[in-house]
Amino acid sequence: MKEIKSNINIVGGGLIGAMAAYSLSKLGNNIVVLEQKSKFDQKKILDKRTTAISEGTKKFLEQINIWKEICYHAEPIKRIQIIDRNQSNKIYFDNQRRKSNLGYIVKNEHILDSLYRKLQKQKNVKIFNNVCIKDIIYQGNRIITKQDNFFVNTNLLLASDGKNSSIRKIFKTPIYNKDYKKKAIVINFYHSKNHHNTAYEFFFKNGPLAILPMQKNKNKFQSSIVWTNTNEFINSLLSLDDNKIVSILNEKIKGSVGEIKKIITKQTFPLKAHLNSKFFENKIIYLGDSAHSFHPIAGQGWNLGMQDVESLYNLVKKYNSLGLELGDEIFCKVFQKDNFFKAYRLYQITDKVDSIFKLDNIFFNHVRFSAINLIERSKKLKNQISDFAMGVN
Ligand SMILES: Cc1cc2nc3c(=O)[nH]c(=O)nc-3n(C[C@H](O)[C@H](O)[C@H](O)COP(=O)(O)OP(=O)(O)OC[C@H]3O[C@@H](n4cnc5c(N)ncnc54)[C@H](O)[C@@H]3O)c2cc1C
Repeated sequence: MKEIKSNINIVGGGLIGAMAAYSLSKLGNNIVVLEQKSKFDQKKILDKRTTAISEGTKKFLEQINIWKEICYHAEPIKRIQIIDRNQSNKIYFDNQRRKSNLGYIVKNEHILDSLYRKLQKQKNVKIFNNVCIKDIIYQGNRIITKQDNFFVNTNLLLASDGKNSSIRKIFKTPIYNKDYKKKAIVINFYHSKNHHNTAYEFFFKNGPLAILPMQKNKNKFQSSIVWTNTNEFINSLLSLDDNKIVSILNEKIKGSVGEIKKIITKQTFPLKAHLNSKFFENKIIYLGDSAHSFHPIAGQGWNLGMQDVESLYNLVKKYNSLGLELGDEIFCKVFQKDNFFKAYRLYQITDKVDSIFKLDNIFFNHVRFSAINLIERSKKLKNQISDFAMGVN
């Protein structure tokens, strides 16, 4: 059986695995990417979601020289309105203080497409599509993955195989998890009024509804809705024809982007969150959704995964400069120390924010109303919240 040697073997070529491959290849490492689907084929990108890229992530994308390609497809967020139940109770954010945008909305297919194009030009990256790992073994200080026709012999294995990580299952790494028993429906649509680069987040009893400003398409205003609701509600919504869905949505998003003109795409995602009890095993690092996944209420899951990638990039750079072998015990423990707490904090914040906005009785509605008023009037609190959302705190 053929053996391929590498410094780094990445299992999973999604938004995080592909970004890890690209950034680490720039440090001169030999990299293998194993993807179970035919992902690295531009025609087969099926993810119709958009991602809100934070200012913090943007800075790293600039550093590794890929922002130029992505920003061509990015719509800046200049304002955010948070609306609790009705238009009279809201918080308004802009970012004139930092003279930068609050974030950027990009279609996932554009991020992946830019990445795959860049990766195909990197001579030190070998990509294998449609492969399935059969076994993982250790040989001295190397870790080996066995596939059907070949094996990869490496120093460091990165598990970026998503929230149902098969590597995590092989190693039985314990996790904390939560099933919200809800779904998020993502609807991209054309609308009548200019969004003026405003993102809206409406908080309803059954879950939040976000409207994210997208780039114009063929001169038409375009945005994306991410609406969390009960499984029953989303299933019944999907059973309706588009005209009925449009009239339900028009009622919900009043006072924002005008009338919905046409639904372009619809996709649903089950809502589950988890946190691995540790982000490493012997010579293995868990990255992105294989380490943590969150309620999408704050649009931060991928951004946090990108912080994992940036932290790994800095660690690998340090090890390379000292001539050390990647993936030893200290390497794994430093990665854990730098990244676990940030993920734990986001897991708690997203979970608690969801619970607070769900509460619906006279007492809690009054408390929330007062808290929103307090935040709206307090510059300090508003700055702290917008720095958190921008990933610059
Ligand atoms: C509705 C919704 C909206 C969101 N919006 C935002 C947002 O605005 N901002 C944000 O920061 N985050 C957002 N997120 C979170 C974000 O989408 C995820 O954090 C991100 O996609 C995770 O990327 P990943 O590469 O870690 O995992 P994935 O995208 O799941 O990729 C995993 C890859 O591994 C492959 N794979 C799986 N198993 C194997 C195997 N055994 N062998 C080989 N390959 C394998 C898969 O085919 C896939 O290509 C949102 C999430 C949802 C559900």
